[in-house]
Amino acid sequence: MSALDDLPVVVIGAGPVGLAAAAHLHERGLPFTVLEAGDTAGAAVRQWGHVRVFSPWRYNIDPAARRLLDDAGWVAPDLEALPTGAELVDDYLQPLAELPQLKPRLRYGARVEAISRLGLDRLRTAGRDSAPFLVRLADGDEILARAVIDASGTWGTPNVLGSSGLPARGERQSAAYLEHALPDVLGGDRDRFAGRHTLVVGAGHSAANTLLSLAELAAAEPSTEVTWAIRSASPARTYGGGDADALPARGALGSRLREHVDAGRIRLLTGFSVHALTPTGDRLAVVVRHTDGGEESITVDRIVTATGFRPDHSIAAELRLDLDPVMGATRALAPLIDPNEHSCGTVPPHGVDELAHPEAGYYAVGMKSYGRAPTFLMATGYEQVRSVVAALAGDWQAARDVQLDLPGTGVCNSNPADSTGGDSCCGPAPSLEPAGKGLATGISGGLLAAPLNLITLNAAPAGGQAGGCCGS
Ligand SMILES: Cc1cc2nc3c(=O)[nH]c(=O)nc-3n(C[C@H](O)[C@H](O)[C@H](O)COP(=O)(O)OP(=O)(O)OC[C@H]3O[C@@H](n4cnc5c(N)ncnc54)[C@H](O)[C@@H]3O)c2cc1C
Repeated sequence: MSALDDLPVVVIGAGPVGLAAAAHLHERGLPFTVLEAGDTAGAAVRQWGHVRVFSPWRYNIDPAARRLLDDAGWVAPDLEALPTGAELVDDYLQPLAELPQLKPRLRYGARVEAISRLGLDRLRTAGRDSAPFLVRLADGDEILARAVIDASGTWGTPNVLGSSGLPARGERQSAAYLEHALPDVLGGDRDRFAGRHTLVVGAGHSAANTLLSLAELAAAEPSTEVTWAIRSASPARTYGGGDADALPARGALGSRLREHVDAGRIRLLTGFSVHALTPTGDRLAVVVRHTDGGEESITVDRIVTATGFRPDHSIAAELRLDLDPVMGATRALAPLIDPNEHSCGTVPPHGVDELAHPEAGYYAVGMKSYGRAPTFLMATGYEQVRSVVAALAGDWQAARDVQLDLPGTGVCNSNPADSTGGDSCCGPAPSLEPAGKGLATGISGGLLAAPLNLITLNAAPAGGQAGGCCGS
């Protein structure tokens, strides 16, 4: 027992994974404090509260949280039902946060600004592992901690529109025309979209969700126009596994989107690289650069930026992190989830060993642990924090006994319409997933393996990829 052990474990974020960490810490008898920037539990999930998730309740409830809730007489929802984000908060996260075992240890409006080691900058090694963490809040308050579980997610740091990973020219000045991913098109945000032309940029679940809502709006308000722009030459990966997907709601999402595109209700633009944005009156001109260097422009009223998210590691800049240069996840985890490599990657169960950094006692978990990979699932995060908390309690046997009970998926092994089938420039033939290895990285998995229409400096197509052999 050291002086460090008297300090709390600080959990950053009261989302699904941060609260699960709190439940495990309580079960293990470890003191803890949860710091949440928002005003409520599940503050990020609330922002996409109108979206129905594709994994049923039984995958969305952490086992330790469930034990605490059951003891308090909680009535569990139908485990096969698919909650909306709002239901996830109202029916699970909020009751969990209200439990007497957690509530006194949660601080809202507590945004973590920086983490370091007390009295030590990143350069100092001597005594580092026995020095408490210093967690500084935006209001200047400072908290000492024996360990930090960073479950702050990625919702607050969306990717930019510019195709090079940098903002497109004029992107910052065009903020008034841009929407964060997943606006509530059919609810509170309807007026911004009804009767207007919206461009949705992106190829993941968020884009698909918004496009389906916009198509529904357009059916009710016929002057509403919907355009969908993707960088790759084919939408096949967004359409996903259809009936073969083991999460049927996820498969259905892609199938419905395909129907709208095929029927012309959604106009699809492939090979679309946003180069510049120029406000013109109350509309926005979007300049696209083509493979031959030529430029073209379309004018819209709104753009929904559904280009994914990236982790913000800046709060941990004074810690010793060992991040994979591609993914921004730990080096052990990154190769398992890299969408450049895995058209059909699986996410094996993983825990404290895969999440560890050189900075002993700091763990990024949950959505943030995946870095830029778009395929995180809550159940994966629940197993992460079970393992990390067991390790913090000194129970290394439990910490290393990682298991993940997730459905398999058909998206990798049976989708004849997907242009990735067979060996081709679109990637190797899909292989069957080993049983029991966890969940394939979803419909977005392998997204980056699809060839882009690379922007060239002269008229010649780059690397034979222009047009792409997957072109529709
Ligand atoms: C639309 C959508 C649908 C999804 N559907 C599914 C699904 O069907 N199944 C599934 O398993 N997963 C799904 N996910 C993925 C993922 O499981 C969720 O995003 C989940 O909310 C991630 O949980 P988290 O706790 O890691 O992060 P978050 O839920 O993002 O929580 C992070 C919390 O940290 C807080 N925070 C951020 N920065 C700070 C700071 N500096 N200081 C203090 N607090 C901070 C935030 O306010 C937030 O409350 C979905 C994601 C989205 C966006």
